[in-house]
Amino acid sequence: MVIDAEKVIIHLEEIYKCGEQPDGTFSRIAYSKEDVKGRELFRSWFESIGIPTRVDEAGNVIARMEGKDPTLPAIAMGSHLDTVPDGGKYDGVVGCVGGLAVCEAMKDAGYVPNHPIEVIVFTDEEGFRFGSGLLGSSAICGVDTHASGTDVDMYGMERKEVVKSYGIHVEDFMKAKKAKDSLKCFLELHVEQGARLDKTGRSVGVVSSIAGVTRFEIEIKGEANHAGSTAMSDRKDALVAASSFIAKIPEIVKENGTEFTVATVGTIKVTPNSVNVIPGTCMFHLEIRDQNQAVMDAVEEQALAYLQRICKEGGFDFTFKKISDHAPEPMADWVKDTIEASVKELGYDYAVIPSGAFHDSLTMAPVFPTGMIFVPSKGGISHSRYEFTEKEDIRKGCEVLLKTVLNVDSMK
Ligand SMILES: [Zn+2]
Repeated sequence: MVIDAEKVIIHLEEIYKCGEQPDGTFSRIAYSKEDVKGRELFRSWFESIGIPTRVDEAGNVIARMEGKDPTLPAIAMGSHLDTVPDGGKYDGVVGCVGGLAVCEAMKDAGYVPNHPIEVIVFTDEEGFRFGSGLLGSSAICGVDTHASGTDVDMYGMERKEVVKSYGIHVEDFMKAKKAKDSLKCFLELHVEQGARLDKTGRSVGVVSSIAGVTRFEIEIKGEANHAGSTAMSDRKDALVAASSFIAKIPEIVKENGTEFTVATVGTIKVTPNSVNVIPGTCMFHLEIRDQNQAVMDAVEEQALAYLQRICKEGGFDFTFKKISDHAPEPMADWVKDTIEASVKELGYDYAVIPSGAFHDSLTMAPVFPTGMIFVPSKGGISHSRYEFTEKEDIRKGCEVLLKTVLNVDSMK
């Protein structure tokens, strides 16, 4: 049983082309007509090999190939087809097209699996329109999506109107919940979106865990005053204090983190934001990611301690508010071990690595035994038209997916 890598590459190209925009760029924003076109094309490939597909209440596309024993739980694969604006050919799509390639390989070989096989295309993984993603996987796992029909997207459209393109209704989303025992495991093949594999020249990554993410909204309050007539010694410049804090973050990470710890201040808002006024307040967001909760807690603690110190010394008030918190999620041991054994059987060079980015697997892992397979992203680039993965690496990733499915299928 082998993967038809040529076909996988053609499928990736064809899905990408569905996203063509009037300005010549390519995007498949969730629920857009380009996204719907890609999903329909994807479904047609399954239907053409005799595998039926359906759309569940949350808009997830589910292709299901029956196995010999209908009482067994399904072995599921999948990822997402939606993109960010001007996104790449590979993010998400590799996992969907890879799942299709596995089913095609089985069909071509006349192999009937013991377990049913499912390939899931999750709804709105990227969260570009409404600001929060992983919608379809959350619904499948019974995790409240907090989606409301009156949510307004970045184009000013209400969610209840937007989701009509999938033929679904917001009030039905949570009916997509799958029973815990309905899946034997979930496997997601994905591009790394980082440079660890590319830098080390390895073709396959066996994912150990997905990083947790904690976000904070921080505000430093000083005194807005005349930038010309206020002596330096009389100032309470909130931006100067914020700058000192932000510049300290890399040092705090270096002292308290691991090689996987990252912390970022990615936004900043100065008030009144005028060229001739000393900044009165400065508001910004700090994000901390790591594979280990204790490490994340230590970075948070040290960051807060430093903020308290500089604010006390300079006479500033401040607020430090946690606005979101996702714990790191380890992949299921037996699934990870099965993936690793499959890579070894195939004789590919691999590394066991963590994922710094979010995936549907983050939502799936607490409910279903979950594992991820990474293939390299050239230069670590992703969410961009310049995203690139070598055909040979995609082939190897798909082969590992196939081998893993076969190995799981042979388990009792
Ligand atoms: Zn993705």
